[in-house]
Amino acid sequence: MPKVAVIPQPNAPVELRELSSPNLEENSALLEVEVSEVCGTDVYLQQGRLQGVPYPLVPGHVSVGRLSKIRGTLLDVEGRNFREGDRVTFLDVHRTCNACWYCLVAKATTRCPHRKVYGITYGLNDGLSGGWAEQIYLKPGTRCIRLDAQPETFMAGGCALPTALHAVERGEISIGDTVLMLGSGPVGINAIILSLMRGALKVFCIGAPEGRLAVARQAGASAVLNFEAHDEAERLEWVLERTNGRGADITIEATGTPDAVVQAMRFARDAGRVVIVGQYTDHGPVSTKIAFNPHLDLNQKHLDVRGCWGSDFSHFYRSAEIVSDPVRSAPWAALRNDLDRYTLADANRALADVASRRVFKALITP
Ligand SMILES: [Zn+2]
Ligand SMILES: [Zn+2]
Repeated sequence: MPKVAVIPQPNAPVELRELSSPNLEENSALLEVEVSEVCGTDVYLQQGRLQGVPYPLVPGHVSVGRLSKIRGTLLDVEGRNFREGDRVTFLDVHRTCNACWYCLVAKATTRCPHRKVYGITYGLNDGLSGGWAEQIYLKPGTRCIRLDAQPETFMAGGCALPTALHAVERGEISIGDTVLMLGSGPVGINAIILSLMRGALKVFCIGAPEGRLAVARQAGASAVLNFEAHDEAERLEWVLERTNGRGADITIEATGTPDAVVQAMRFARDAGRVVIVGQYTDHGPVSTKIAFNPHLDLNQKHLDVRGCWGSDFSHFYRSAEIVSDPVRSAPWAALRNDLDRYTLADANRALADVASRRVFKALITP
């Protein structure tokens, strides 16, 4: 009888429940969870702010564990068999169809209308389908990825790592670029590390609170600014001072604040690039005080503005590879000191600590 933590309905506290172990279908598996996480998405799930969510549900969409039971065959991307006892993570997105217009023509599987996401759009009715649990049922067709890293090294990146990897890919960061990160949450921190790996010369970060800015500096940001103490004009001046008066080559917005989208454009240089990755939840329109001016903020600046939605298998796979590398994993290994751990029974406290940004990353260790 595996224990799970459940969000019964929007705005209700998390409850512990016991579920019966599933009967495994052909080519499926059972994962013994070692560690899952609490991210901003889980806070929004609890607040009922995501569309198409089937409550009650077990949150936790990115997890690491060991395969405790396999029925039939489970292959990795190289065609090798997984065995019981193997440590894996898995792509949280399931059942992209490889048959629709988005999958086949646009080659944008993150927009496939048939996709389901463990811990987000799979609910309790779909069985053990979230990571805040002792076990997860890996349905047929779930893409597992072997993990050679320590679970906590991978989870120091967690779901933010593939998301940030997608964002820096969209940003096409090149050697010598100056990158501005708006946001110092997990996506921003991971994107700082990955921007430097892609060859950025300098990464500046505007975020809050101070605890997270310290993590940003540790991740390699050459300068940080607390936005709570500086208005938009001061922030712009701060960016211009550091970029020969031009603005950043690439600005990545990872804040969750609509106004920051327009600010990201203003802080980028003319003919620069802007990636929007921080608006996973609908936070509504920009505020009236922002006064977006299409001519000044976008057209005349000759900006390249790109949205970035979700991540696909390639981003998960590369994430697992990079944190499993003895040299390249160093920044994530260092982040392990900034993790906070909670049991299933502590899930409500973990949610509150993430919502208040008191912690950098909260892990659930069932
Ligand atoms: Zn599709
Ligand atoms: Zn997440």
